[in-house]
Amino acid sequence: MNSYEWRFVGGHLALDLANTVAWRLDPARTVDRLGSADLLADWFRAATGLTADADAGVLRRVRALRTAATRLVDAHLDGAADRGSARAVFDAWRAALDRAVPGDRLPLAETASGAIEDHLALAVAELLRRPDPAALRRCDGDGCGWLFLDTTRNHSRRWCDSADCGNRARVRAYTSRRRERA
Ligand SMILES: [Zn+2]
Repeated sequence: MNSYEWRFVGGHLALDLANTVAWRLDPARTVDRLGSADLLADWFRAATGLTADADAGVLRRVRALRTAATRLVDAHLDGAADRGSARAVFDAWRAALDRAVPGDRLPLAETASGAIEDHLALAVAELLRRPDPAALRRCDGDGCGWLFLDTTRNHSRRWCDSADCGNRARVRAYTSRRRERA
């Protein structure tokens, strides 16, 4: 059904959701990989192993959640606040909790209703309430904007993928060094 090969570099479902927009910091190249409800259902299955229905309404709400979560992480990384996005995430989280089923063993967690939007809202809330937001990173690649959790010991990860954005940056540095020498 879908020929696009999904990539999961975020290290967390909420960040992989944000990363379904490629090249988001370069408007000329920006691509929304969740272009249809079918693509959303396909991505969700690839990301979680769960099968759930998606329609135009689910897609619209997931996109709104994705925008709010991305803006909140960006604001955090830029040392800012974003009350509107925080409210949107909170509202989606509360709606998902209303429909959730409580788990019965530790670690005590709520189980999403089965709806894609609820599953993702709980994931976004889980990420944004974790005690270590210092691990949140944005790829240094030009225009990339992909987000990830840096789990390296010395917090040194700069790229969404060292074979992708990291490699492009190395090639660019090499080319400019050669130009300087010429
Ligand atoms: Zn990147």
